[in-house]
Amino acid sequence: MIERYDLHSHSTASDGALSPSELVVRAQQQGVTALALTDHDTIQGLDEAKQAAALNGIQLINGIEISTTWENHCLHIVGLNINPEHVSLKTGIAHLQAIRSERAQKIAFKLEKKRIPGAYEAVTLAAGKGMITRSHFADFLLQQNHVSTQQEAFDRYLGQGKPAYVSTTWASLNDTLNWITAAGGVAVLAHPMRYKLSANWMNRLLSAFKESGGQGIEVITGRSSPEEITLTSQYIKRYGLYGSVGSDFHSPANQWVELGRLKPLPEIIKPVWALF
Ligand code: AMP
Ligand code: MN
Ligand code: MN
Ligand code: MN
Repeated sequence: MIERYDLHSHSTASDGALSPSELVVRAQQQGVTALALTDHDTIQGLDEAKQAAALNGIQLINGIEISTTWENHCLHIVGLNINPEHVSLKTGIAHLQAIRSERAQKIAFKLEKKRIPGAYEAVTLAAGKGMITRSHFADFLLQQNHVSTQQEAFDRYLGQGKPAYVSTTWASLNDTLNWITAAGGVAVLAHPMRYKLSANWMNRLLSAFKESGGQGIEVITGRSSPEEITLTSQYIKRYGLYGSVGSDFHSPANQWVELGRLKPLPEIIKPVWALF
């Protein structure tokens, strides 16, 4: 059987629109044979996803996307094939969950100062037991007609330097990589082109990443251009890393990003799943 991997996706355990089981069913319908659930700073959806995957005949890879601060940049590191029960991983993400909760209160306070009350109650309700993310605030601003798109919510309120932006120190790169590797996982730099790093900074990052145990980079994401794939492949070769593929699917409402709708990994790139 030809495997079709999608190694980056979100559920209602963070800012995804589908429950873990709905996500797995959709992945199966889209032809994915191996799906990683990688919610922001939580492993909470994995049990349900695993059960749904067994029922639907697809493979579920335990994953997480860890918010990381490195040299004042916010980076996302995906951990794949982790043991979600590992103690240092669990303790580490518990700390990030506390940071998320405090940050949500601060964001809501800043919105209140802009005469937008009620955000904390709304996002708490919307997130339920899952992580509160800025996407929840964007949805709230949209529902209250303060903005007309999610993007506008980030551009006017939630993005860096905007009135409701709260600067946050997430996990250090070293800690993130240690938690993932201690839990038996493979650490992957998510969506490398999203950080807008110069070549110089990218080289500094990848040196530090490799030195602390990082093993992969997402070469193929939901919307990678051929130029981005070529560039990322060059970094992979230079640093002796493995390539990952992941849509970063959040919601069926975003018609541009679908589960499993991914270009193939260039043949010269060693796939991260060789490490599982
Ligand atoms: P957080 O980790 O709470 O800061 O939330 C980040 C999440 O917000 C990302 O994972 C995306 O899902 C979403 N996001 C970030 N920037 C944007 C943007 N410009 N437009 C839409 N969604 C965004
Ligand atoms: Mn997200
Ligand atoms: Mn991300
Ligand atoms: Mn993601």
